[in-house]
Parts: sequence; C-alpha cells; structure tokens
Amino acid sequence: MALVVQKYGGSSVGSVERIKAVAERIRRAREGGDEVVAVVSAMADTTDDLLDLAGQLSARPPLRELDQLLATGEAQSMALVALALHEVGVPAISLSGPQAGIRTTGPYGKARISGIKPTRLRRQLAAGNVVIVAGFQGLNRADDVTTLGRGGSDTTAVALAAALEADRCEIYTDVAGVYTADPRLVPEARKLDRIGYAEMAELAWRGAKVMHPRAIELGQLHGVEILVASSFADEPGTLITDRARDERAGGSNGGSSGMENVNTIGGIAYDVGVARVTVADVPSGTATLAAIFGPLAEAEVSVDVIVVESTAGKSGRSDVSFTVAEKELATVEPVVRRAAGALGASDVSLAGGFAKVSAVGTGMLNRPGYAARMFKALAQGKIDVQMVTTSEIQVTCVIAKDRVEEAVRRLHRAFGLEASSRST
Ligand code: ASP
Ligand code: MG
Repeated sequence: MALVVQKYGGSSVGSVERIKAVAERIRRAREGGDEVVAVVSAMADTTDDLLDLAGQLSARPPLRELDQLLATGEAQSMALVALALHEVGVPAISLSGPQAGIRTTGPYGKARISGIKPTRLRRQLAAGNVVIVAGFQGLNRADDVTTLGRGGSDTTAVALAAALEADRCEIYTDVAGVYTADPRLVPEARKLDRIGYAEMAELAWRGAKVMHPRAIELGQLHGVEILVASSFADEPGTLITDRARDERAGGSNGGSSGMENVNTIGGIAYDVGVARVTVADVPSGTATLAAIFGPLAEAEVSVDVIVVESTAGKSGRSDVSFTVAEKELATVEPVVRRAAGALGASDVSLAGGFAKVSAVGTGMLNRPGYAARMFKALAQGKIDVQMVTTSEIQVTCVIAKDRVEEAVRRLHRAFGLEASSRST
C-alpha cells in the first residue's frame, strides 16, 4: 500500500462539478490500494475575492486578521471535498493546517513551514480515512494562523509528503504538465516527461506558473519526487526528479536517452509585469550599491537584474539600473528616491512595461554560446534587449512587454525545443 499526497489547485476545486471530479480521482486512488492525503487550495478566485473584500473595509488591513480571513478559503474547500467523498462512500476527514500539525515561522502573509507533527494525520490514515488538508496555512509560535504566501498550497503538499515519507507527491492542476514553453504562446511546445529540480525551480522563478518554486526547492531538499499533472484529464504529466530515467525503469543502460544531455536548454520562461529603475549619476563603488540595495532589502523588495554602467562623460560616477516587479513600484519609489537623494543622484527613473524572457537549462555552464544564440534570435526579430543576466542555469533578457510573445516563440525555435529529444 502506497501513501500518496495529492494537491488540488484552485481551478481543480473551482466548482461543484470540479469537486466531484476530485472526489472521484481520490476514490480511484483508494480503490487502487493507496492511502491518500489531499491538500486543497481555495476555490477558483476565492483568495482574490477575500483580499478584495478586506480592501473595501481597510486600506491597510492588519496582517493577522488578513491571515485569519485568507485561511478560510482553503477551509471551505477542505470541508467540501471531504463531504463530496462521503457522498461517494469514501471515509474522509478534513483538517485545517493547524489541525494537521503544521507549524510556521515568519511574518503573517509570508510564513514558512518550520515543522510538521503528523500524529493526528497518521492516526486518521490508520483508521482508514482519506485526510483532506487545507493548504497554504499553519500555526505560528503564538498559536496564530499564518499563511504561506500566494501559491503556498504547493509548499504544504510537498512538506506533508516529506513529513509523512510519502511514496509519491502529485500536484493536480489545470495544465497537463511542464512544457518547453507556455503552450498558449507556442503551439509547438512539448510536454516534458521529466525534469530536474534545479531546472524546474529556475523555470518557476523565471515565470513558469505551473508550480510554486519554493515547493520545488523543498522537494529537492527532502528528495520528494513530484508529479505535475492535469486534474481535468487522464494524461501522464511531468515528473520532477533527479533520478536518471533508467534508474527508475530498472534498466542497465541509457537506452535512447544517451549519457549526456542532447539539449542543455529545458525551456523558455517569461515574466511580464517587470519595472526598470535607474538611479543616474551616483558615486561609483560598492558603498553606493549598498546604499541603494540595503534599504530595498529591508523593505523586503526582491531585485532581479542589476546593471551598473559608468555615467557618460563623468569619471568616478555610475548609473545603476535594476528590475523589480511592477506591483512593487509603489513600495520601491520612496525608498529609492531617499537613497538617491542621499547619494546626490542627478535623476531617478521608474518605468513599468517590461518583461523578462529566460532560456533555462542545466549544463549551460562551460558551454559557451547560449547567450549569443539568444541575442541573435532576438536581434533577428529586432527585439531590443535592455538588460541581461546570466548564471550557470539561465540567461535572462529584459525586453519591452509588448514583444514578449514573439520573443518566446523565436527563442523556442532558436534552441530547437520543438523537436529535440532530451533526458535529464
Ligand atoms: N489560495 C492561495 C492562493 O491563491 C494559495 C494557493 O492556491 O496555493 O494563492
Ligand atoms: Mg490559488
């Protein structure tokens, strides 16, 4: 008997019909002999609706109360799924995050899971119940409900799979798996059978919406293999794992997959809603960088691409540019203006309307030419590259937002992703 942790996202529990389909999938897993723990998200747009309601009552809702409120979205789904299971004759019990023994640390609205005491969960499983757990929440040291940040139910599922030493973790969502690029933009995008943790996490951080990157990193840390599959169809999905294919199949050689990767690019990701900030004409040097980025870090703003150039015609002076999420601009502006004032900057500019496109793949390190190939493909489309950042696993270009679809299509083609056979 295998223990499976399944997770159903907001659209997978978005209506009565969808909840019945979830109950049916769980029933089948049970019939196949599995013990099931199912983590659920809030129905469809419930979390957004709750945030909106709070916003109508308060411009700055107290974060503790906001968490109390948001946690109810997942609580609704857990009870509804449990009663749908009863209806089809499957014994089930729902548990909120706190009831499931999930402890958290850190601020309201962005807490992290510090530990799980699965005593009650195990007892319920042993009694023959399917256990439905509300995702995205836990109890902090003050015994207050805290939420894990948007998309946090993925993290709940992987953390539970780790704590219970589950045999499998299955993330059911509204897409059929992980693709070489967003299939809505690139019709020839391919679904990957499997992908490694590092590459998957990078794709997710770089904008692939399929899973929360934190959950993938947690899976890697605890060696939890994660299957991403559609809750709307019966298709195989994508397995996130670092095990080689033949290890899993029990075979003794690489078969058709070969020993080295045929293609070191796994996929193209993109992220819209990017803003560019430039602080012009400040003293060159690391003290300046600390003066700008220190306060931003204190304001919990994450900064991505950073470019430092010498100010035209002035020695010892630099222009510092960086990207932030567009939705952070209101937080960023006063912080940056204050720092810029103190540094004697001649100008501060803040502008939205940018996007990032990334080519992601392990094994780019020590294989030169990936950035060049990317620039060439973008240049052929006369797509201006504003800023660039690279690491051993990705090359990211900042471009105008209205060119992002074309950029993704061109890069997908330039890296031959529609045709390649690839192994992890
Ligand atoms: N309901 C929460 C959100 O919409 C958590 C989740 O769905 O994972 O962000
Ligand atoms: Mg959601």
